[in-house]
Amino acid sequence: MKLDELVRPAVRRMQAYSSARDEFHGQASIMLDANENSLGSAGGGPFNRYPDPHQRLLRARLATLNGVTAEQVFVGNGSDEAIDLLLRLTCRPGQDRIAITPPTYGMYEVSAALNEVQVETVPLNAEFQLDDAAIEQLLAIDAKLVFLCSPNNPTGNLLHAAAVERIARQARALVVIDEAYIDFANAPSWASRLDELPNLVVLRTLSKAWGLAALRVGVCLGSAELIAYLDKIKPPYNLSTIAQQLALEGLHDTQRFTALRDQLLEQRAWLRQRLEACPLVAKVFPSDANFLLVRLSRDATTVYRALLAHGIVVRNRSGQPGCHDCLRITVGSAEENQALMLALEALAQEDRTP
Ligand SMILES: *Cc1c(COP(=O)(O)O)cnc(C)c1O
Repeated sequence: MKLDELVRPAVRRMQAYSSARDEFHGQASIMLDANENSLGSAGGGPFNRYPDPHQRLLRARLATLNGVTAEQVFVGNGSDEAIDLLLRLTCRPGQDRIAITPPTYGMYEVSAALNEVQVETVPLNAEFQLDDAAIEQLLAIDAKLVFLCSPNNPTGNLLHAAAVERIARQARALVVIDEAYIDFANAPSWASRLDELPNLVVLRTLSKAWGLAALRVGVCLGSAELIAYLDKIKPPYNLSTIAQQLALEGLHDTQRFTALRDQLLEQRAWLRQRLEACPLVAKVFPSDANFLLVRLSRDATTVYRALLAHGIVVRNRSGQPGCHDCLRITVGSAEENQALMLALEALAQEDRTP
């Protein structure tokens, strides 16, 4: 696979925007190059200067954490920005296509629709895996990008490593593994295989295990060549100074990260046990994420609405392929999970009283 052949000719030809911060390197005491406000900021904060467009400190930290070089790290305004940029990098509107494996994360399709990119689907099987026939089908699609989500949203399971590896080895496309939930999983990140599998792209986010969703920081790991292309097409100042600073602070607080993750995993086990004992629940699917996909023994939409009446919002995924009567429930705090179970058990009780 030659990356250049997957990149839109228009992107190869175009000149990247050169910001004031790109053109001047070095130390200066008087900065009159970017039309910033040298007098200060409304609100009193020190926000009058543009952020580092290259996010150097943040990328260096992410490189260390992920065992890659800084040249292999792209940071976006959420991983949703990286998804959109990968599409725009490779797919010509109205001509090229991507492949996805439903049920899966909704943004691949939304981003494709916005960019007028066709979406080919190869459904996961009843265990939410890709069997050999499905892999063949996936490999036969003339796609620029294949999106695989592992652990998958909304199902919670990891895709089998052998299937992912075969796709990464044989596809002529870029194979994007969305690892938004990998920190909750009992499996290594595909980031460790980037040097070996040149068309592999790994998406990570600070929104889930790191608990920093409000900052909007997503991470794309790939070959240095791919990352250079993403840098070429990204909005120059795509991450605010505040987001960069607070993300960096968070990424140094590995103690809290570990404590949060361990608590979540404990709560996930507690919630699974209680759900499995609840008469309203037909099945709790295996989860390597911070949520559980739950199949109910009665109409999911009715239960969804009844929970809303208790002030509890979960995600109704019953309309997704393979997810009939399923709710996706985020693992919350101990108190939240207890409240959820009380509400579900009360509903089950109502069911039994005529
Ligand atoms: C939550 C989630 C994301 C996160 O996106 P951000 O834009 O980084 O918040 C990405 N992929 C999947 C599968 C998700 O569930």
